[in-house]
Amino acid sequence: MKIKNWIKSLIFFEILVGMKATLTHFLRYRPITIEYPHVKKQLPDNYRGMLGLLKYDDGTEKCVGCDLCEAACPSRVIKVVSAEVPGEPAKRYAREYTMDMTRCLFCGLCVEACPVDALGMSQEFEWAVYDKRHLQLNKEQLLAIGDRAFPKREKRLEFQHPNVAWFNVACREMPEKEL
Ligand code: SF4
Ligand code: SF4
Repeated sequence: MKIKNWIKSLIFFEILVGMKATLTHFLRYRPITIEYPHVKKQLPDNYRGMLGLLKYDDGTEKCVGCDLCEAACPSRVIKVVSAEVPGEPAKRYAREYTMDMTRCLFCGLCVEACPVDALGMSQEFEWAVYDKRHLQLNKEQLLAIGDRAFPKREKRLEFQHPNVAWFNVACREMPEKEL
């Protein structure tokens, strides 16, 4: 027994037991780092990246300037100035739409609040800038992000749901949307 203990102390047996997990990983080494930015990781589908404004397949902006996203945003990122669509007094659009992305939490509440799915969260995350003013995005910049991130566009609502008034779009019982 004494010899056994003597050999154990000679080979630092307790330390080897303690280091077992470390040694196992060391001997089975597989790289887990990637050489960003040359190699990029596959992001999950529900990744919440930079926000963008979307259009219908005929190029019409989806946003109807209802301000619900502005009201839902906990960080006061969004500012919407709406106006009537010229010649169509029952319809409105966002004449101005700005986002101060320095304040955004990427919580997605604005996307959830939008009744016409006019906002989407893209997988863009490389938005580091030297000047914070470059993160004050206007409508054209947000539409460009939407175009890049969501090239597949939906039909206009009146063609998707011909029997449903356009202002009932939040109804949960509606049939599936056709793309
Ligand atoms: S993701 Fe959240 S914090 Fe950012 S604009 Fe939308 S509601 Fe506001
Ligand atoms: S909630 Fe949607 S439709 Fe209303 S202003 Fe915001 S983006 Fe536009």
